[in-house]
Amino acid sequence: MTQIEIDAAFESGNIEVLSTDKRSARLAIRKDHQSDFAQWFHFRVSGAEGEEIELKLTGLGKSAYPGGWPDYNACVSEDREYWARAASTYDESEEGGTLTIRYTPASDIAWFAYFAPYSMERHHDLIAEAAACEGVDYRRLATTLDGQPLDLLEMGEGELPVWLYARQHPGETQAEWWMEGALERLTDPADPVARELRRRVRFHIVPNCNPDGSRRGHLRTNAVGTNLNREWSDPSADKSPEVLAIRDWMDETGVHFAMDVHGDEAIPAVFLAGFEGIPGWSDEQGKRFYRYQRILDRRTPDFQTELGYPKTPAGKANLGISTNLVAERYGACAMTLEMPYKDLHHAPEPEQGWSPERCRMLARECLAALLEWLEAEEAD
Ligand code: ZN
Repeated sequence: MTQIEIDAAFESGNIEVLSTDKRSARLAIRKDHQSDFAQWFHFRVSGAEGEEIELKLTGLGKSAYPGGWPDYNACVSEDREYWARAASTYDESEEGGTLTIRYTPASDIAWFAYFAPYSMERHHDLIAEAAACEGVDYRRLATTLDGQPLDLLEMGEGELPVWLYARQHPGETQAEWWMEGALERLTDPADPVARELRRRVRFHIVPNCNPDGSRRGHLRTNAVGTNLNREWSDPSADKSPEVLAIRDWMDETGVHFAMDVHGDEAIPAVFLAGFEGIPGWSDEQGKRFYRYQRILDRRTPDFQTELGYPKTPAGKANLGISTNLVAERYGACAMTLEMPYKDLHHAPEPEQGWSPERCRMLARECLAALLEWLEAEEAD
């Protein structure tokens, strides 16, 4: 019987091999550089064609979100295009919290990840393809600490500034799959929703706010261990040049509507979080957010409003969080969109769970909801 081999020395790779024994392995997730966050994993296993393998991710009680592991099934692919789920179980009493993944590869190599990876190569393809479309402007916003470009796409002839930005947390790859769906729709000259949106709106789109964390295989931070979504009240060139550049450009453009796209480790649902608790809160501004939430809820069965974060009490909002700062600073209707790593509790799809395909479709509905929301605002 041969021995399985495990590799993670590639872009966004993340795993430490503690030991292997024939077709099983004990593994641990590496922390984000200069930080204590650990949750993202991405590695390949070779040498087990047609045989069941057993992979144990240990020490997860100390991961960033231990609540993310119960009812979670690991993502697996053999062609790196189609991502399915491998049956997984979590035992909090085994080796400090262990996720056991069992899978029988049909071929000799299988890839495992926390969610379907979205590589920087694919990011560059996405940017190049969109930038080549008619009426799309490209702007290089900044250079990251690892020396990568921070990319912004702008389009639309309208007056209203709308910001869509994703992946402040790099391990939340759902967010860039969402962006792919959004850009596909917005750059389609035949799409009536996109045409009307582009007539009314000027879009400012950052498909990946954290290229360094993405390439390094981080869950939550950039090259120097900064959680970008806590930096918005006071971004700096040393710790968070990504946020500094985006906020500076927002100061130029203003913000009418903003959606910050994320993934949530524990909650098995798609949901929105608003800006309750900001110092400048008014029911009027709040109503604009709740209206958008209602429209999206009606448009797609993949969205819901029962599961989500508790509302922040009056005056207690953390202005380091983008949605709060953007609502406070620009008076915008700002929101955080969260997608799950797990499957949807109320609309499960056991083969794939929440998937890149569903992220892309959700983005299309979010844009259609935006148009409906703009029409409703106009009618007020
Ligand atoms: Zn996030």
